[in-house]
Amino acid sequence: MADQGLTPEPEDAEDADNADNADNAEDVADAASRRQRKGAAPTGAGLDVIVVGAGLAGLACAADLIAAGRRVRVLEASDDVGGRMRSDHRDGFVLDRGFQVFNTSYPQVKRRIDRKALRLCAFRPAVLVHGPQGTTRVADPTRRLADAIGSVRTGGIGPRDMAALAALSGWCALAPPRLTKAAGVYRPDRSTGAALKSLGFTDEFVARFFRPFLSGVFLEDGLATSAAVFRMVWRSMVRGSLCLPADGIGAVPRQLAAALPAGTVVTDSPVAALTGEGVVLADGTDLGASAVVVAAGPSAASRLLPGAAVPPYRTVTTYQYAAPTSPLAEPTLMVDTRMRFLNTCVLTEVARTYAPTGTHLVQASVLGTDLPGREGEVRAALADAYEADSSAWDLVATTTVADALPAMPPGHPLTRPSRISPGRYAAGDHLTTGSVQGALASGARAAREVLRDQA
Ligand SMILES: Cc1cc2nc3c(=O)[nH]c(=O)nc-3n(C[C@H](O)[C@H](O)[C@H](O)COP(=O)(O)OP(=O)(O)OC[C@H]3O[C@@H](n4cnc5c(N)ncnc54)[C@H](O)[C@@H]3O)c2cc1C
Repeated sequence: MADQGLTPEPEDAEDADNADNADNAEDVADAASRRQRKGAAPTGAGLDVIVVGAGLAGLACAADLIAAGRRVRVLEASDDVGGRMRSDHRDGFVLDRGFQVFNTSYPQVKRRIDRKALRLCAFRPAVLVHGPQGTTRVADPTRRLADAIGSVRTGGIGPRDMAALAALSGWCALAPPRLTKAAGVYRPDRSTGAALKSLGFTDEFVARFFRPFLSGVFLEDGLATSAAVFRMVWRSMVRGSLCLPADGIGAVPRQLAAALPAGTVVTDSPVAALTGEGVVLADGTDLGASAVVVAAGPSAASRLLPGAAVPPYRTVTTYQYAAPTSPLAEPTLMVDTRMRFLNTCVLTEVARTYAPTGTHLVQASVLGTDLPGREGEVRAALADAYEADSSAWDLVATTTVADALPAMPPGHPLTRPSRISPGRYAAGDHLTTGSVQGALASGARAAREVLRDQA
């Protein structure tokens, strides 16, 4: 895939944009570090770089700049770090703001995150597919052979599709990224649907498994996402585990923030505009710095950096229910061939910490917003899928994320330059791929470009 940027295209955006970052994980001292952040005044005296936004991209960028000796301030509009990766702790529940999973194999994750400190709880590497004829299991032969054989025996997947799946996953697991990327299926780039056809999958299996499963991954239901992005994501899934941190997905950015020097991140400090000398906050305070990195998510990026290219974004809504008993006694994701929901799982089967003792937490996600009547339809579909009475489940949270993931159609560049103009840079998943890896890598790239320009 062509990089339209100023730097040479990295061998693979999965492994790039991170070469020189030491793993700087420390114990997470959330409460203390948060107090420090809130207490720090957003003074700009002597700053080299202001980073706008304390999501993953901003935090990674700040870490790399500080490691290179720069004086950095991160200004965050909201009351805590994390951006789209936050969790609320309420009445004994861990409520992630939208369903998302943590992938252990992303190169940026391996290099920056102390995974042990997150107390990761893994999903079973299989997917349950619910349809009018019942529920079947689809398991990857490179992960759990016994489950995969069971999938064939019970009709979850036929022999031809199992052979295609083994070839795809085996290739992704064993071949270096350069080789998988160069495969004819991905060059020139095409839609995921077209690539799956070339890889030998039957239309029936694509419709029954890939379409519902990947709709939840890319937040679009037409298999229209770039095949190169699909290859990258599939490779990361085959090579790692999908997990939830015991304290919620928000523990990931909190760990990154806790590793920064005290006072680096200042919350409750929305930036209103960029100025010739730095930024002006919403309260009128001027802060100066020789460089400003806008890592503020897609909407704020287009507002603060007029002219910056921001792709359309996908919206997702997640319903979280408290249930007295677990409707599925295993930590496995379920999808629906009729697409009444994108995916569902019992979060407490994955991480028991997500609900108080004696209660279970079930999530179900749908594309788009929370329209009237939608929750009732989802609840009815869950009763059907789990063969359980969902009528008494308590709806504990409804979360709609408007700018959840960027659209990534064929030709989507895996990485784009950060520099917008002299001293002005952008970072965020809109410049890479909509993923933890993409956001962290874009922060790393912005830091590299700042350092090169300031050298
Ligand atoms: C529901 C959902 C599910 C997902 N699932 C997965 C998944 O399973 N796997 C995966 O890898 N990725 C997943 N993602 C994607 C991943 O979470 C994002 O790619 C990543 O968090 C984006 O980070 P970012 O730093 O680019 O942007 P953001 O997280 O949006 O951070 C931007 C920050 O800037 C702040 N800000 C905005 N305006 C201002 C301003 N004016 N002044 C100061 N600060 C400002 C915001 O408050 C925010 O903290 C999911 C995302 C969502 C929403």
